[in-house]
Amino acid sequence: MTLFYSHEPVRPGSPAGGPKDPLRQSLFSRPPHTRIEVDLSAIARNIQVLKRHCRPGAKLMAVVKANAYGHGAVHVANTALAGGADFLGVARMSEAVQLLDSGIRAPMLIFGDVWPQQAVQGQAHGIRITLTSLASARAVSAAAFSHDCTVTAHIKIDTGMGRLGLCAGVNMEQTMADLEAMMQLENLAIEGIYTHFANADAIDKTHTKRQLALFSQVLDRLAEKSLVPEIVHAANSAATLEIPESHFTMVRPGIALYGLCPGPGVNCTDLTPALSILSRIIQVKQVPKGFAVSYGSTHVTDRATTIATIPVGYADGYSRLFSAKAHMLVKGNRAKVAGRVCMDFTMIDVGHITDVRLGDEVVILGSRGSDTISADELAKLAHTINYEIVAGLTSRMPVFYRKAHGHDT
Ligand SMILES: *Cc1c(COP(=O)(O)O)cnc(C)c1O
Repeated sequence: MTLFYSHEPVRPGSPAGGPKDPLRQSLFSRPPHTRIEVDLSAIARNIQVLKRHCRPGAKLMAVVKANAYGHGAVHVANTALAGGADFLGVARMSEAVQLLDSGIRAPMLIFGDVWPQQAVQGQAHGIRITLTSLASARAVSAAAFSHDCTVTAHIKIDTGMGRLGLCAGVNMEQTMADLEAMMQLENLAIEGIYTHFANADAIDKTHTKRQLALFSQVLDRLAEKSLVPEIVHAANSAATLEIPESHFTMVRPGIALYGLCPGPGVNCTDLTPALSILSRIIQVKQVPKGFAVSYGSTHVTDRATTIATIPVGYADGYSRLFSAKAHMLVKGNRAKVAGRVCMDFTMIDVGHITDVRLGDEVVILGSRGSDTISADELAKLAHTINYEIVAGLTSRMPVFYRKAHGHDT
């Protein structure tokens, strides 16, 4: 196992200006107490699991939006590409630029909004954009014409997500007319067409089958005119794992790359979670019965006990909704959060654990011994989904990477 640090940019002119500055060096002299650890070997394994599920010949787009769901976009993207991913999927142009800055050269698709100017600038770097209407396609076409270039795009069809794209379910004739008009625009290369499922992770696949049927209808109508683009895609993680007939010529898994399960209707037994959150106890104290802990004094000890302070708070992405509910692992035991989670700190009751000391490791998310604090467990406490637990981690927590073999990605 090697452990390496994803270096933060050095801001010139700041007191800790150069990389050799002793203050700055002290930041990197050893791993900080509070950190995210990402096991890149787990991500590599998950890619292979997804590839095994893929229809033969289908491409794989690794979705690395939102800093790879909090896992660090650059290292995840490199791991995915080394494992055979063909495409990278992001939500914003800024995310594509971050990948380019790191030296990654792979086809990238932006799911979200892009100005025509950005589309033009991106095309030279392998960036594909999403077109969601005839009007936006015309604007991109005009910008590309004036720059004498061709922008590569994928057209989005809304088949029941109600978010983005030509609404095939509302007006099929209009959708087909707009599609044909988009494909005839100058300086646009329509490489792909796609849709997105709203409920593929549910046990009941009725809505997904309906979306699939509508998408297939659009594709059939295009096929009659030999207008089907080269890349046809629909499957998110849930559909990649559960609905082979949705794979078409490419799949777009996100959450499953990270080893997390999209929802109750998906068999995720082969996936390995990649992310842990670790910290250390920075203060430990014996307190009497009746001792009040944290803001609002909502927690008052009902016995003499031991309270430990952990330097992680909601500004790190550790939700305030975990107050008085979540557990952390200390020396293989569960310790419950005492009182409210603060911005920078959280207290836990460790009175039932023997010999807890200053500096002891705390597992906030992840496994130690036979116990695990999963993203799903934390998600339930905050009435959300595992996606938000990891994507909500903030840049204040540095990400460290673990890898089975020593070579750098
Ligand atoms: C986020 C996203 C995905 C990946 O979804 P998962 O459920 O994480 O697999 C795929 N396609 C689009 C358009 C997305 O926005």
